[in-house]
Amino acid sequence: MKRRKLIAGNWKMFGTLAENEARLTSLSAAIPTLEVDWAVFPSLAHLGACQSVLQRLPNGAHVHLGAQTLAAQEGFGAFTGEVSAAMLADFGVRYALIGHSERRSLFGESDAVCLQKFQAATHAGLVPILCVGETLAERDAGATESVIERQLNAIVASVGAEGFGHALIAYEPVWAIGSGRAATKEQAIDVHRFIRTRLGKVSDIMADSVRILYGGSVKPANAKDLFSAEDIDGGLIGGASLNAADFCAIGAAAISA
Ligand code: PEP
Repeated sequence: MKRRKLIAGNWKMFGTLAENEARLTSLSAAIPTLEVDWAVFPSLAHLGACQSVLQRLPNGAHVHLGAQTLAAQEGFGAFTGEVSAAMLADFGVRYALIGHSERRSLFGESDAVCLQKFQAATHAGLVPILCVGETLAERDAGATESVIERQLNAIVASVGAEGFGHALIAYEPVWAIGSGRAATKEQAIDVHRFIRTRLGKVSDIMADSVRILYGGSVKPANAKDLFSAEDIDGGLIGGASLNAADFCAIGAAAISA
């Protein structure tokens, strides 16, 4: 199946209002073509301002918004400080990252919490992007596949093919995030194939149609090589997404790959 690539920018806890506006303005002016999907994930505090900027930019409608995290609790309620999937959906957000390694390692998000957040997202109509990936110690110990399988199973075994819906997966080796050391194309292909094969045990249709992004030190220089692999359906980009020219170049690489 031909899967449409997604180029997603995770802005993490970076950006002032002025920087975000400048970045979105450059991005909208330079979006090379619409042959791929584009999304940016500003901080929750900046989603509103980014939405307003996008609404008045010529190509703004082609850049979708995503949330870097959301509440595990559904709907509305007395959960001070939290932002629910229902609020994000009401607001027009399309995607939600679930289980980014920084959430898992720095904020203690377990597989069980990831499941709650995944379900909160799908129930509200958001498209979850489930992030999975092994640490360097796990890779060195030969545990890459068992770690990925555990992270996948935590969601798929509970929600099944139907509950998985249009969700995406992002394979992000923890050692490649922000390190400048991306996985090689072969390393990424091995894990992407492994993920598709595991999903095939639940549903062939799901395995064939699910978009699996690669994330971890993607740059304009390595994007084309990575995205030319059949099983890599785009990228989740951290550092390089903060530079509109680099982000566009990565998208262009995905188109030409
Ligand atoms: C990320 O944080 O999801 C990521 C992939 O970061 P970077 O591109 O900076 O490695």
